[in-house]
Amino acid sequence: MLGCPNRCRHCFVGWRPNPKLTESDLRFVAEAFRPYAKTLTVYDWNREPDFGGDYKEKWELCKELSSPDRPPERFELASVWRLARDGEYAPWLKGLGVKYVQLTLFGGEELTDSFTGRRGAYQDILKAIDVLLENGIAPRIQAFVNKQTVQELYKVEELIDRLELEKRCESIGIPFACFVHQGSCDGEGEKLYPIWVTSDDLEKIPDKLAKYTLKHFNKRTIQEVFGREERELYRELIEDDTTESLGSTAPAVLYIDGEFNVTPNIGVPSEPWLLGNLKTDGAEKILDRLKGDKSPAQYVRATVPLKELVRDCGDPESKRLFGREDYIEYLLNRYCRREAQE
Ligand code: SF4
Repeated sequence: MLGCPNRCRHCFVGWRPNPKLTESDLRFVAEAFRPYAKTLTVYDWNREPDFGGDYKEKWELCKELSSPDRPPERFELASVWRLARDGEYAPWLKGLGVKYVQLTLFGGEELTDSFTGRRGAYQDILKAIDVLLENGIAPRIQAFVNKQTVQELYKVEELIDRLELEKRCESIGIPFACFVHQGSCDGEGEKLYPIWVTSDDLEKIPDKLAKYTLKHFNKRTIQEVFGREERELYRELIEDDTTESLGSTAPAVLYIDGEFNVTPNIGVPSEPWLLGNLKTDGAEKILDRLKGDKSPAQYVRATVPLKELVRDCGDPESKRLFGREDYIEYLLNRYCRREAQE
């Protein structure tokens, strides 16, 4: 988990310091877990990939430390900060076979800078779009929707038209991709709950962005993309007395922060999900805690029925939109925080 130049207001992994990540740190982590893993895949980031100056060496190191049949993948993520500054970066990405890089907008320049938590973020995105296209990589645009940003989505549409992104992507032989969604209501994103998108906002999404979004998610209606109203989910969950063991069903995908604290990727890298510290507890104890639902959040989910979570933390009147699983995770995180405060 090296670092990130941004402090996005929707950030589900939360804001943390940007620690220095050395080669020996990565080797230590990989070797600690290797005896317990049939296959191991190592990444040096879960925030902005390639933000560190030694990104090429780190990529090679992650490949070396991963099992030969499970090497790290690239996905659609890359460092926008670096694309705008490092002339060697886009050609390097192209050489790895990257087709798309995702860029995140929240509306116009001021709003995008504000929600990304960094002045100049929007200008970096504009530069990144040109650099990517010059190198035969397509920009994939995502825009986050909430009560504030929905008012400015027309500016995202205008930008796509002004920069002729459909045509320019076509000229490099890659279809243009774009989508809007609300993100997940956890980590820093939970603070956006007061301005969370509601069903009344969906009609404000410009037609063209809605069309791209349906194509991207292969859905028939924009409502299907954004999920259901909280009040509807509340009515369903208030009758639900099930619990779930997350640790016994989830694959072991772990976040390890700069201080070697370990959390599972089924939750947010924060206190309620903490499994232990790799330096002081060791891998075996951490994996036992994962499997045995011992992190506080896993324990709550395994022992407290959904109806209790929603009764204590849900809003039966709210028209905010959530996918079912995202809503359960939001309830779980709120419940854990309330318990910790009591
Ligand atoms: S959302 Fe991604 S880019 Fe933004 S602060 Fe979090 S990790 Fe960084």
